[in-house]
Amino acid sequence: MTEAKPQAAAAPSRAGMKKELPDHFKAYRHVWVFVEVERGQVHPVSFELMGEGRKLADRLGVELAGVVLGPPGEATQAAVAECFAYGADLAYLIEDPLLADYRNEPFSKALTDLVNTYKPEILLLGATTLGRDLAGSVATTLLTGLTADCTELAVDQDGSLAATRPTFGGSLLCTIYTLNFRPQMATVRPRVMAMPERRERPIGRVVRHPLGLIEDDIVTKILSFLPDRDAGTSNLAYADVVVAGGMGLGAAENFQLVRGLARTIGAEFGCSRPVVQKGWMPSDRQIGQTGKTIRPKLYIAAGISGAIQHRVGVEGADLIVAINTDRNAPIFDFAHVGIVADAIRLLPALTDAFARRLS
Ligand code: FAD
Repeated sequence: MTEAKPQAAAAPSRAGMKKELPDHFKAYRHVWVFVEVERGQVHPVSFELMGEGRKLADRLGVELAGVVLGPPGEATQAAVAECFAYGADLAYLIEDPLLADYRNEPFSKALTDLVNTYKPEILLLGATTLGRDLAGSVATTLLTGLTADCTELAVDQDGSLAATRPTFGGSLLCTIYTLNFRPQMATVRPRVMAMPERRERPIGRVVRHPLGLIEDDIVTKILSFLPDRDAGTSNLAYADVVVAGGMGLGAAENFQLVRGLARTIGAEFGCSRPVVQKGWMPSDRQIGQTGKTIRPKLYIAAGISGAIQHRVGVEGADLIVAINTDRNAPIFDFAHVGIVADAIRLLPALTDAFARRLS
């Protein structure tokens, strides 16, 4: 039996728009994923994009490449090996000490040089702080189109990238094409796409390229690195279990109930946007379209209505348990388990029950 290959989603029709692609676009082939390595670690969004890139490349019948930019050393080599483990056919590599820490100038030069030399038709980056900064400057330098924060990527009948993203405050989805420029660039936020399976594979083809810069060419200097004191306290995006509270909890002090349940069951905690706006939780705990996208095995939402902007950030969860006093709350339309109850009374009862069970 042969295994069916996952297919890129079918693109919406763009009837009436330009059909013939200019001849010089034929020089642009293959799908590239920028592999984000910061302080020796590959950001998992790069692997999520490899999975999407693989589907697009298979649909177009072209190769998938990872782009690794970093200082000479083990971490950069390990990132190259990971490209192949997550499905790349080849890797473009620029190894240079000037790429040790992220700075816009050398990274933009490195990526634009690679694009101008090897001409990919599609270039994907993670919508992380680094990825957003780099994608914007590379697209501007190359004078091409960039669709940010995509939720779906597909290839249409002409082989153009159909990049879908929320618009009008998340109430509508729009599909954006870059028909007149190459490469077609898109960013995708962490956890929006599923993590593909990792497979041990032999190292594939590696194309090395020089950076062609000296330190004096770079205006930005890194004097020291001060880690964010709050970094690492929130691992919401990649947590297996998440407990979140919304405006239904009524007051800042009631978020102790969310934190208490999360602590008891070893979960991360989060909240809806108005909770952050009220100052009841820090902004890195916000879940949804303008916060974090999560894909936990279990998501417990207490006192959250389930507005579309919240829903898009949680619908990748395997099991959604919603607690709400209003049986008509929109969250019950997509929750797997719905509990019509007062969360302020139910959360402590759940915490006690779990604490007894787990002790
Ligand atoms: P509410 O809508 O006020 O709902 C509270 C819910 O709690 C109600 O369903 C109520 O029945 C229930 N309730 C009340 N008392 C209790 C009780 N004692 N026990 C149990 N349930 C109770 N929102 C996000 O969450 N994340 C985002 O990233 C985000 N981005 C946005 C981006 C834009 C551009 C816009 C326009 C909006 C965005 N929003 C976002 C806001 C979103 O539209 C909603 O306003 C928000 O999600 C509602 O938050 P909530 O469910 O906590 O509050």
